[in-house]
Amino acid sequence: MKRYLTLLLLLLVFTAGAKQPQVRNVIFMIGDGMGITQAQLAMLSSEEPVSLEKAQYTGLCKTYSADNRVTDSAAAGTALSTGVKTYNGAIGVDTDKKPLKNLTEYAREKGLATGVVVTKDITDATPAAFLAHQPNRGMAEEIAMDIAASGADVLIGGGRKNFESRKDGVDLSAQLREKGYTVAYTLDEVRAVEKGKLAAQLAPGHMPKMSQDRGTFLPLATAQALKILQANNPKGFFLMVEGSQIDSGGHANDAEYTALESIDFCHAVQVAFDFADKNPGTLVVVTADHETGGLTLISPKDVREGKVKTDAYEPANTQGLVVAFSTGNHSATLVPVYSYGAGAGHFTGVMDNTDIPKRIRLLLGLER
Ligand code: MG
Ligand code: ZN
Repeated sequence: MKRYLTLLLLLLVFTAGAKQPQVRNVIFMIGDGMGITQAQLAMLSSEEPVSLEKAQYTGLCKTYSADNRVTDSAAAGTALSTGVKTYNGAIGVDTDKKPLKNLTEYAREKGLATGVVVTKDITDATPAAFLAHQPNRGMAEEIAMDIAASGADVLIGGGRKNFESRKDGVDLSAQLREKGYTVAYTLDEVRAVEKGKLAAQLAPGHMPKMSQDRGTFLPLATAQALKILQANNPKGFFLMVEGSQIDSGGHANDAEYTALESIDFCHAVQVAFDFADKNPGTLVVVTADHETGGLTLISPKDVREGKVKTDAYEPANTQGLVVAFSTGNHSATLVPVYSYGAGAGHFTGVMDNTDIPKRIRLLLGLER
């Protein structure tokens, strides 16, 4: 009798434990250059509440690289993809230029589907850090070679020239087709793919800006990538989505550019949150690689009284606040971390950028 009671108790404990959804799918979203103020700018300029305000947990992240308090996107991307700090310019390699295993590779080894969706050239630093290993971010053709060999299920972004008009004459798109990929050149072609491998090269270089009619590309491509990854592998997936041009708005000290790109990224985050609601076991982590522009929001009164020390802009829809940039480059400020879904509670407090992939690996059971 006692033995049966023990068994029953064990069964109860087991089923209670099973109710806590294990993490099967990870959607890692990086707003390039999206500091806290860029996120706030999206909130101020958007007509409706933005997705980030619905995050279940928030945290803060340190972004410095191995050789600079102010990181670039290559070192920060490598930290976020591998859990190791490296030098500015490094793509998926350590300070000795040795390859580091990235989240995409860990996930593939574990038998998960993988994908990357971006709004710039896919050989640019952030996506490259999740797909390639090269000593310098400028080596676009070598990075494209690594991307074509990465085995990722879904690749969506710009950068066609690095696959099809290369100095070495190699046609990487032909190689991708031989490996079973559908190579797509338009968003309609992307939307026609429901399953299998997809490499979408929708621009010769970077994708257009939001102000140049990029439209709903990023939210749509994110939704399509999720559909394909789910169809390809019932075990789960790892997807990285980048709002790549928030950074460009910061470099240009262009408040409107920054706001439009930040809002677009928030729409893609909403797609990920909705997916997590419908698919238990999905974790969404949203952060930035660094802040760009030293952006701040100030009172118009201070501008009128000449107290403002930098160029200030007064775009529409910022509820009376003035937007000011303090640099044309990146800054060293902390960036926000927003999380949602299964395991989201593990991304709170003050983190280092290297902590995020380590925690994702643990939650996906990828750490040995
Ligand atoms: Mg980037
Ligand atoms: Zn930048």
